Amino acid sequence: MTATSWLDLPADHPFGIHHLPYGVFSTADDPHRRVGVRIGDLVLDLSRAAASAGYAAGSAWSAPSLNPFLGQGSSAWAAGRAWLTEVLCDAAYRSVIERHLLPLDAVTLHLPIEVGDYVDYYASAHHASNVGKIFRPDSPALPVNWKHLPIGYHGRSGTVVVTGTDYHRPCGQRKGPQDPAPVYGPSVRLDIEAELGFVVGAGTELGERISVDEAAEHLFGVVVLNDWSARDLQAWEYVPLGPYLGKSFCTSISAWVTPMAALAEAKVALPRQADDPQVLDYLTSAAGDGAFGLDVHVEVAVNGTVVSRPEYRDMYWSPAQMLAHMTVNGASVRTGDLFGSGTISGEEKDTRGSFLELSWSGTEPITLADGSQRTFLEDGDTVTLRAVAPGPHGAVIGLGECTGTVLAAR
Ligand code: MN
Repeated sequence: MTATSWLDLPADHPFGIHHLPYGVFSTADDPHRRVGVRIGDLVLDLSRAAASAGYAAGSAWSAPSLNPFLGQGSSAWAAGRAWLTEVLCDAAYRSVIERHLLPLDAVTLHLPIEVGDYVDYYASAHHASNVGKIFRPDSPALPVNWKHLPIGYHGRSGTVVVTGTDYHRPCGQRKGPQDPAPVYGPSVRLDIEAELGFVVGAGTELGERISVDEAAEHLFGVVVLNDWSARDLQAWEYVPLGPYLGKSFCTSISAWVTPMAALAEAKVALPRQADDPQVLDYLTSAAGDGAFGLDVHVEVAVNGTVVSRPEYRDMYWSPAQMLAHMTVNGASVRTGDLFGSGTISGEEKDTRGSFLELSWSGTEPITLADGSQRTFLEDGDTVTLRAVAPGPHGAVIGLGECTGTVLAAR
């Protein structure tokens, strides 16, 4: 059945009735942060709309983050989505709902979730191979464990920021292979990583595991994520414990969280070849369809010039496998935990999701529309990530964009 909203949106609007992403906003006349849902170029003030329409469960939407709603679990998410679809499609609700719709440009968007733990994975075989060739030219491109487990590291949740937040170029130690000693100063190889981020809704108890097939009960939604990375700091510090200050200074996410339920039409099989190793049972789906990829098309723009179009369907590990792996040792997850997919890179040069790969470690500059060249980011550069996915009946699901500008070091 095709749902049609009384808002009469164009069928191909990226924020149509089949999308309904959640965010947190405030307005000039009411600075209290509260949950909204985007429909078209409007934001529905959810807790007020729910109060007006007599939807008692909507009280969780008066919170300043999505966390109380996410913590209610997958049946509450489904009920909320069904209620929203009903009130936005049934014209009988129009008069009660319409007065709680605000123009997008009249609201300020905030970080949508109170981020719990933040983990970043490394799930693209093309990205991992490229980084291996660049950082470890004398070793195999893919680490020996790479196709047996989704590799990840713990990031810094407190520096996850909402799209539109600018940040200062990080400073730190760096030492090139030929340098006699490390030096301190602003990073000279500042980079991006185009990723998707997955938001954990329902948490677990210590000792509990989430199977691949149970992941849908815990995974609420998806954001577009930029894992800003200082390659020079990273290269010097990361042996043997992994990324630290080269990553922890800032991670940007989109303001809108797209529910997994909106991406049902975007599910695709994972890319596997005959000679790929069989993974251990805990990383497989007993039901057969739990470990899926997503057909999300990503676009990376620098100062308005599109420099790359990565395809999320190229990712080797699925979000469900990453969540299963995260909890297989009994580590619990909490509402608001966030995990990044890792840089999304494909085989072709124009599908690479970082400047490290696009410029091949600074040796192949990229030319922008204004004629200037980039190997890594310069002060004042604005990077914008966008992503779209197929929805039902030819609809388009446009994930929230993720943008940020690099300010000079201080
Ligand atoms: Mn990353």
